[in-house]
Amino acid sequence: MRYSALKIFKEALTGHKGWKPVWRKAEPQSHYDYIIIGGGGHGLATAHYLASKFKQKRIAVLEKGWIGGGNVGRNTTIIRSNYMLNGNEAFYEFSLKLWEGLEQDVNYNAMVSQRGVLNLYHSDPQRDAYVRRGNSMKLHGADAVLLDQSGVRKLYPFLNFDNARFPILGGLLQPRGGTVRHDAVAWGYAHAADKHGVDIIENCEVIGFDIQNGVCSGVETSRGYIGARKIGVAVAGNSSRLMSKANMRLPMESHVLQAFVSEGLKPVLDGVVTYGAGHFYVSQSDKGGLVFGGDIDGYNSYAQRGNLPVVEDVCEGGMSIMPRIGKARLLRMWGGIMDMSMDGSPIIDKTHIEGLYFNGGWCYGGFKATPASGYSFAHLMATDTHHETASAYRMDRFSRGFMIDEKGQGAQPNLH
Ligand SMILES: Cc1cc2nc3c(=O)[nH]c(=O)nc-3n(C[C@H](O)[C@H](O)[C@H](O)COP(=O)(O)OP(=O)(O)OC[C@H]3O[C@@H](n4cnc5c(N)ncnc54)[C@H](O)[C@@H]3O)c2cc1C
Repeated sequence: MRYSALKIFKEALTGHKGWKPVWRKAEPQSHYDYIIIGGGGHGLATAHYLASKFKQKRIAVLEKGWIGGGNVGRNTTIIRSNYMLNGNEAFYEFSLKLWEGLEQDVNYNAMVSQRGVLNLYHSDPQRDAYVRRGNSMKLHGADAVLLDQSGVRKLYPFLNFDNARFPILGGLLQPRGGTVRHDAVAWGYAHAADKHGVDIIENCEVIGFDIQNGVCSGVETSRGYIGARKIGVAVAGNSSRLMSKANMRLPMESHVLQAFVSEGLKPVLDGVVTYGAGHFYVSQSDKGGLVFGGDIDGYNSYAQRGNLPVVEDVCEGGMSIMPRIGKARLLRMWGGIMDMSMDGSPIIDKTHIEGLYFNGGWCYGGFKATPASGYSFAHLMATDTHHETASAYRMDRFSRGFMIDEKGQGAQPNLH
């Protein structure tokens, strides 16, 4: 089924009887060329690009729960490419370019909204750091605009300029950054992959790998054994748990990150604003809710719910820059499991086991990376070579000493 304005018009006139499921409910086959474990954004994008761009066939995505139930449907929907380091910036800019053409590519309305991402700065050294970041972004072909206080006032006059412990001095704006409706990304990639013949198999948990003489040739699942030539793991917060079944210990920890949505309000916030003296980011959804979040919970966990101290911390961040948020009532909150790597950057690489590939370590920035992650993981699995923008994301960078520590926090995942 193809979506189009004509189709919507026709369905409206005929009682909406012709809509079909967005993807088929596939049954597992005994053998595939490619198995992707994890039906989140990254797994589905990988399957889509494997089939559509790299013309591979016989592909399955195995998902232990339901499509959209993981972080892809739990995040705060922000996309941007405002990174500074070599190894990161080109990758995230590639991702932003793929977002810009995503809806046409997958024939699905994912509500890509380039409403601008503004990072506030609160001191002169922070402004200097943002100047450097902005210049680095421009060198990689991204867009960046440095605003002084009056520039920020013009955009968001209601921010707390005059009575704050950390006064707002200005901000670094990326106009092409913005938001995308997160679960529509999962549904869109599932729709497109299915159209290319990919089997999307839900309620199918991988519980073990078939590894003999250093070669992986299949997986044990809750729905039986499935063989494959190549197997890619993209299970985000469950990475360490699953890779331990292949006897691999990853440079990674799992932590909870929470998200919050207020009651629906009239339009008050055009773009995305982030606090530079604490950890707080906020945007307004099309339904009117303020969508916001902050730091991860500091301890390791596989629970998809968080704790009160972080709720307090996030609300304090919101009150510091935008006191009017205190009048809004909180409607919903939830948590997702983050695959926090030791340097805050991801891994897209082959493992030492032939036929087994790994994608993970997205920390809390993996949503914006979804298209580029899927594309470069598909590139790696199809050609056994790294995509040019993802060549720094190797597993052995920790032993070689080539960390990509964007935040400069060292090997402390809870701080990245
Ligand atoms: C609250 C919150 C806010 C966030 N905000 C942002 C943001 O604003 N911008 C941004 O860029 N990023 C953000 N992120 C991070 C982003 O959501 C993640 O990095 C990204 O979604 C992870 O990739 P994924 O979509 O493939 O993960 P997931 O959707 O979690 O996919 C992994 C899938 O693997 C499945 N799985 C696990 N184990 C198995 C198994 N054994 N067998 C089969 N399937 C298995 C899981 O069920 C899951 O569906 C946020 C995350 C959270 C939780």
